[in-house]
This record gives sequence, structure tokens and C-alpha cells, in this order.
Amino acid sequence: MLSAGTQADALHGPLPVFELHSGFWLNLHHTLYQEARQQRGAPPASSTWKAGKSAKPTLQTAPAVKTSLTATEQRAWDDAVSYYAANYADKDLLFSTELILLKNQLGDFEICNELSGTKKKTCDAGLPPKLTHILEAAATVYRAQYWPSDDRANRAWVKRVAPLVTEQGVGLSHRLADIYQTRWPTEKIRVDVVRFANSAGAYTTLDPLRVTISSIDPRNQDAAALEILFHEASHGIAQPVEQAIIRECRQREKPIPRDLWHALIFYTTGEVIKPIMDAEPDAKRDTSQDGANTTSARGGNADPRANSQNQQYTPYAKREGLYQRGWESYLQLLTLYWQPYLDGRVTFDNAIAHIVSAL
Ligand SMILES: [Zn+2]
Repeated sequence: MLSAGTQADALHGPLPVFELHSGFWLNLHHTLYQEARQQRGAPPASSTWKAGKSAKPTLQTAPAVKTSLTATEQRAWDDAVSYYAANYADKDLLFSTELILLKNQLGDFEICNELSGTKKKTCDAGLPPKLTHILEAAATVYRAQYWPSDDRANRAWVKRVAPLVTEQGVGLSHRLADIYQTRWPTEKIRVDVVRFANSAGAYTTLDPLRVTISSIDPRNQDAAALEILFHEASHGIAQPVEQAIIRECRQREKPIPRDLWHALIFYTTGEVIKPIMDAEPDAKRDTSQDGANTTSARGGNADPRANSQNQQYTPYAKREGLYQRGWESYLQLLTLYWQPYLDGRVTFDNAIAHIVSAL
């Protein structure tokens, strides 16, 4: 069994741009959050389960396993889920400062087998005593029952995306930084690969910039994995776009459209990645073959390989129908005024000014 919290990088040597982790505590944390939300009857944190057939997040590893829990183990697990239901299930992983700090802290302690510092002083994560106790008790159950398969799924995802990151990562980071008229972070961006992320299948928190990605979400597989990595990372570098939109709106005394910058970074990542993927039949073939080895949920209608017959890569936002959910006008504006900028025919300021004046 792979030990808790080793960096998935270790399997592939260091990658450029990103630092991919499969961390024990973060996976436990997101699993408890997911189960707690289900217990509260909230929509599951991962829409992987929307498909219906696999109605429970633990279904792939749990049913046979859960019955083998001793009464003590079951109690420890149930207590942890109840604690998460009472304290975290109603909070958003992306917007709750409390959850963001907890996530970052648990990520930093991935190499520790405990959080209390009882055995090793440097493994005192400084969390509230009750939470430390809850997590350590649940950890015993998680490590024995669920972690091996979760870690395996995470590592399989990393293994599939790693060659693309190695080959394209640096070029893409330069291209996107140029587009957003900024600099790519000099430090590698930490990416925590987990079985369960949030309902979007991935989320990014700033200061420090960290990405969390679900390894089993059907939307994040194969060639789409590379786009998700760069879309999420773009959350951390696209502030100049957001600022430019706000500035132009103020000048024209227009209301600031809240999602325009997000539609823009979806559009941009997709357009930048598309030609690379279209020129990468090998990558596609390889990832498809690897895909056969995975246990991950593939039942979704979002399988990017659906498009591989004609060797055309369909960007995420298009494939997932994001533009149809209220972004139709943005897509029009982006195609008309942002695409010329991506093609090098107009300036950044010119493109943003045109978009905003057409709003
Ligand atoms: Zn996003």
C-alpha cells in the first residue's frame, strides 16, 4: 500500500508548472464533507452522482467494506460525518474562509500520520481539539478502508495527465500569462487531487493559489484533464481581465457583469488548448487506453472521448453546455471581440472595450 500523503509527483518525477498531490487528510476531509452533505440532504458535493446509477459516493468502495467495520470503527466514522454535517455541510468549500483555511492546513500536513502532534511535535496542525480528535479517529477507518482505492484513483488520474503537462505545460503557461497580460506564478501551483471536490468537480482558492480537482469526475478525464488544470490555474492569474472589465464598465456607467470574466477564461483556455489537442492524436490514443484501467466513473455523458472519432477536441464550456446556462450573449461577444485578440489582430484593451461597449 502506498503511504499516506506522499506526493503523486514522486511517481513521475517533477512536472513543470504544477505540483500534483494525492494527500491523505485532504481526501478524508472531502469524503467526510461529501457524506455529511448527503446526510443533510443537500445536493451532493460532487455531481458525479447525478447520473443516478451510483447514488452514493462511497458506493464504489464502501458497501462491501462498510459491513466489515467494527462497531468502534463505525462509530468513529459516523461521529465524523455527524460533526461535518453539523459544522461544515452548509458551508461552501469555495467561499467559506473556515473551510479554505482547514483545507490548506490539512494539505500542508499530508505527510503526517496524525494531526495532534502527540507522537511528533511537527505534526501538531493546531486545529480545534474536537476536530483533531474526530479526524484522527476517522483516519484509522479511512486509511484501512477507503484510502487505498481513493489514492489509486488519484494517482491514475495524475499518471494520465502527467505526459500532457510535461509536454505542453510550460508553453501553455506562457501563452495564458501573455493573454492575460500578467506573469505566471514563479512557484509551481499546488494541485490537490481528491476523489470528491465540489459540485463543479474542481475549485480554486487564492492566497495561496491552490487547485482542488476530483480524479473521478467524468468531466475531468483524458484530454479534458489538461484543460481543467489550466482553467483552474487561470483563476489565479486572470485578475487583469476582471479589473479591465470593471474599469470599462465604470467608464461607461454600466453594471458589472459578474460572470463575464469567468466565461472569458473558460473560452480562452478552451481555445488555447484546442489546437494542441487536435494535433495530439497520440495523446488521445494513449489516454483512451489508460482509461480502460481506471475504476473511475465513466458513465457520464461528458466523456471527452465521444469526440475523438473525428479527432476534434471540444472545449469544456462547450461540451458541458455552460454557455447555454445564461452565457449565450457572452459567447457571442467573446467570439466577436475576444477571438481577434487571441488571434493577435487587436490589442487587449481594444478587445475588452469592445466587449463592454456591446454589453
Ligand atoms: Zn472556473
